[in-house]
Amino acid sequence: MAKRRSTNASSPIITAEKDLPTRFEDLGLSDRALAAVSDMGYEAPTPVQAASIPAVLAGTDVMAAAQTGTGKTAAFLLPTLDRLGHARHGQGPLMLVVTPTRELAAQIEEVATAICARTGHTATVLVGGVSYEPQRAALHKGCDLVVATPGRLIDLINSGDCNLSQVETLVLDEADRMLDMGFLPDMRRIVSKTPASRQTLLFSATLSDDVLDNTKSLVNNPVRIEIAHKGTAAETIEQFVLPISHEAKNDALIGILHREGAERVIVFVRGKHRADAVCRRLRKAGIECAPIHGNRSQNQRASALRRFADGEVGVLVATDVLARGIDIPNVAYVVNLDVPSDAEDYIHRIGRTGRAGEFGWALTFATPEEEFDLRDIEQLMGKNIPVYPRAQGIPLGENPLVLDPNRTPADRLPGKKERKKLVDERREARMARTAEIVASRSPRGAQAQRGPKGNRPGESPIPPEKPKAGRRRGKATTQQRPHAKKPETAGRAGRPQGRRHPGDHGGMGRR
Ligand code: AMP
Repeated sequence: MAKRRSTNASSPIITAEKDLPTRFEDLGLSDRALAAVSDMGYEAPTPVQAASIPAVLAGTDVMAAAQTGTGKTAAFLLPTLDRLGHARHGQGPLMLVVTPTRELAAQIEEVATAICARTGHTATVLVGGVSYEPQRAALHKGCDLVVATPGRLIDLINSGDCNLSQVETLVLDEADRMLDMGFLPDMRRIVSKTPASRQTLLFSATLSDDVLDNTKSLVNNPVRIEIAHKGTAAETIEQFVLPISHEAKNDALIGILHREGAERVIVFVRGKHRADAVCRRLRKAGIECAPIHGNRSQNQRASALRRFADGEVGVLVATDVLARGIDIPNVAYVVNLDVPSDAEDYIHRIGRTGRAGEFGWALTFATPEEEFDLRDIEQLMGKNIPVYPRAQGIPLGENPLVLDPNRTPADRLPGKKERKKLVDERREARMARTAEIVASRSPRGAQAQRGPKGNRPGESPIPPEKPKAGRRRGKATTQQRPHAKKPETAGRAGRPQGRRHPGDHGGMGRR
């Protein structure tokens, strides 16, 4: 059982860009690790690599805040594998990386394989959704490095197949995500099976108070590395919002994909069933797409990612399972069909485009019911998201969100209770309008106006997202919003000053 460790208030904090080495050769890596760097085609270390690698080589614990796409995987794998011993037959692992999703595990494995080719280590991946037997066999054969998701790792610990008593280095990857996903008890359990003398490296998109409070007992006097600041979206991502009605979203999505191109696009939605339904609808409109979410098997998820990367399908429809960490280069743009309820998720979602200095852009559909979630995002980023300037001809529905052009991220937003009340009112108003439309039609007339599947006009065949407990959404007319000043609707807004047009940077050109 690991003894309790704690962070130390006097832990050094390294913030990026400040006097960091600019060459891999100056970080203290051995020739074989440098050969791996060269194999992977990296020319210069990213800030998180320049800050982390010397600290990890020195054997200290590290807590690093680094956004995805910053090169954090190599930041922890290069120095750890460089100084890791080799397990004897039937022994190990000597190093353990715990990460929240299978996709992240696959991505870590890819970098590990490149480095292990030079260092001679063996790596085993333990994730759910696939058979236990090959994983058991690999563990019994002995391995140096294990990359695992928490659930499967706990299963294999419980069955006696995985023994963590020789772990010298433990990496907790995407720690904030693991906390969000409710993995804290699993994390604690896993850590308790490793020796107290281990080196612990914790990587997280942010080192929020919540993350620090929950993980401080897992690290010992760590060096803190702060690369990303809360709410920092990559500067290469241009962002727009499309104020819209609830019922118009699905047709508008098809309109946007036709207008801006339906290749290399990721559409984020709230909810697994909704992702499937959106896909069905897009296919009907002749748009090749694939869903990716937690209900899909490991093979289905891997196949969707592969087909997307190969260009076989142009559009991935994803829930937030994909939002963090997955590296798909050249994503043309991201559409948030639903505003995420967690503002941090927005940063991760749009971070799928504009990676590694490429240009990218993101469009967020927002209904009256989603206004406060949108305002939370603007508050987190400290800036307003401009209205999409090319909405002309895109159906926005009868009661789109009306954004106050004078809003500022510093505005006080309604508290939890007040917000719930307002959102409920808006939802009820929307439902009342729908009921009115239905009641105003004779059964025959209504039937005649139904779509091929019996959908009423203005009623989406795509099921709306299931409201989360305590976060139910509603919709109201704009008149119900006392602070609405000059309406800034998408249709009326001109091209924002000084901004390039989404179509100017490849959307149309890619079609
Ligand atoms: P990660 O943050 O680990 O998911 O890495 C994001 C992307 O950056 C991956 O495609 C890596 O291959 C790439 N990458 C990592 N380190 C470097 C580097 N030093 N130079 C160029 N690309 C890198």
